[in-house]
Amino acid sequence: MVKPKTEEEIELLRENAIIVSKTLAEVGKWVAPGVTTAKLNEVAETFIRDNGAIPSFLGFEGFPAATCMSVNDVVVHGFPSDYVLKEGDIVSADIGTLYKGYNGDSAYTFPVGEVDEATRKLLDVTKASLYKGIEAAVAGARTGDIGHAVQSYAESFGFSVVRELEGHGLGKEMHEAPGIPNYGRQGHGARLPEGLVICIEPMINAGGRGVYVARNGWAVHTSDHRKSAHFELTVVVRRGKAEQLSTFEYIESTGK
Ligand code: MG
Ligand code: MG
Repeated sequence: MVKPKTEEEIELLRENAIIVSKTLAEVGKWVAPGVTTAKLNEVAETFIRDNGAIPSFLGFEGFPAATCMSVNDVVVHGFPSDYVLKEGDIVSADIGTLYKGYNGDSAYTFPVGEVDEATRKLLDVTKASLYKGIEAAVAGARTGDIGHAVQSYAESFGFSVVRELEGHGLGKEMHEAPGIPNYGRQGHGARLPEGLVICIEPMINAGGRGVYVARNGWAVHTSDHRKSAHFELTVVVRRGKAEQLSTFEYIESTGK
């Protein structure tokens, strides 16, 4: 059921969103060649717990870590590991919190050192496609309007949109209705009421849109093993313009 949130609930979701946003920035400070994704996970988990929150991904449907760390051709749901990041890699950090009974959930894909021009473009276009989706998330619009905005922007650069995974409502549960696909047709899908809190999270591939799930049952890889980027923000659907709850400004103030 698609259910708008009360302003009291939105304040609790905002508190979560700010913890998640700051956690992503802490992770970003550590992203560099020579650092393991397990270290990034440790930085995130420590920061989340130091802020009185619980890392909501840990144990979620059996997920074994506090965060998802997805490198290069891993789209999402990568396990933090002993993999040592190297110059030119990209790593998506997806972070979730549970605080005061509500959830936070946002993601950012960081370049490791200097990345090539095509990779920089993939990151820039994926992030910009998220903001296109947010622009479409106004009261009275439909989920297809968001998907269409993301898809048409990303595909205009020759990139492709992962279809198997999507954004979602957010509240007491990490994944609530409606699903927010990153592709779609304008005027189609669930209607967005004012006060609905959603996560928009484009997953954009440099090559083809095909993906598969690794044998560990979690990590989603691109079929052609080209890179994939993932950015996610939480917003409140409002009249005329969505209100962002999470933000990348803590990351961007560090120059990443
Ligand atoms: Mg997420
Ligand atoms: Mg999400």
